[in-house]
Amino acid sequence: MNRAWVETDYYSILGVPNGASKDEIRRAYRKLAQQHHPDANNGDEKAEERFKEVSEAYAVLSDDEKRKEYDEVRRLVGTGGYRDGAFGFPGFNGQRGGGTNFEDIFSGMGGMGGLGDLFGGGAGPARSARGRDVTTTVTLDLPDAINGVSRTVRITGDTSCSRCGGAGAEPGTSPTVCTTCGGSGRTNLNQGLFSFAQPCPQCAGSGQVIPTPCTTCRGSGTERRVRTISVKIPAGVEDGATVRAKGKGAPGPRGGQPGDLLIQVKVRPHDQFGRKGDHLTSRAVIGFPDAALGTQIEVPTLDEPVRVKIPAGTQPGTQFRVKGRGVPRKGGRRGDLIVTVDVEVPRRLSRKAKKALVDYASITGEPLTEEEDTDE
Ligand SMILES: [Zn+2]
Ligand SMILES: [Zn+2]
Repeated sequence: MNRAWVETDYYSILGVPNGASKDEIRRAYRKLAQQHHPDANNGDEKAEERFKEVSEAYAVLSDDEKRKEYDEVRRLVGTGGYRDGAFGFPGFNGQRGGGTNFEDIFSGMGGMGGLGDLFGGGAGPARSARGRDVTTTVTLDLPDAINGVSRTVRITGDTSCSRCGGAGAEPGTSPTVCTTCGGSGRTNLNQGLFSFAQPCPQCAGSGQVIPTPCTTCRGSGTERRVRTISVKIPAGVEDGATVRAKGKGAPGPRGGQPGDLLIQVKVRPHDQFGRKGDHLTSRAVIGFPDAALGTQIEVPTLDEPVRVKIPAGTQPGTQFRVKGRGVPRKGGRRGDLIVTVDVEVPRRLSRKAKKALVDYASITGEPLTEEEDTDE
């Protein structure tokens, strides 16, 4: 592949339009060649440089075949087919028939992001692909989410073959160096005017072939089965969070790096506690006399209950903060438990209680509306 073709516009060097006729090109060349000929410029370097450019441009554009190829290259440049020193052929995604399935090779190489690597030279076999990430869900009760817990999850999917340990070769045999690419993992592919390195189709870029494939995995090195994986859910995890267990996903093909296991955490609603960031929330109900006179109440936490002092004159909706009984934070500190106090108004009163309240009202001077006694 002639890099100069990609970078140089021969038409503009000769000052002719892209579709110029052979005559136009010849005339333009003669004029410029005379003008910049070293003999006519006393060895001036700039003129000499220009003369070379003009000659090179003419050499390509005056040759029908070369000009056709040059135009094709320029067309690819113009359409963005040429990037970062690598040719992405317009027909790459399957239009081009033939024996090699490019998409397969690329997906095995870790996606299109690896294109630059594949074509950019670089010695040695292409790197092995990483295994896929695998996603699973665990549902936790709030105390487990707060305190952290170990869980066992069962994953059905590809895993290292139990017979060959992932090598793909029947036990007792071993992979051999690929003869097609000599172990480099790359071959040169000629596509008309282009020649570029591609992953070796024989060994898919690994540089090795397996003469006697494992009978269990037929050489793939992976088999599908149920795996039981123990995962540690860190303390304080929130509903909807994703925990990543590195290297617990699908194994990489042919001994490549395994993917990760992504654990999506769901937290069941708790009947006593809510959560607000690092804080837990709860409600406590006290009677009107306790709210008015003050008291101490026992409040449940995720550990043992604590006593909370309710001062005299506490209003409904007042919040009390129990320090350090919330969600563990990084660095060992914990959030708080925030208790909201409800004051309960009695729904039914005995005659005695009612009389006491009427007396209370008359003492405090609160206006009372006369009302029929609806009690039986
Ligand atoms: Zn196997
Ligand atoms: Zn090979």
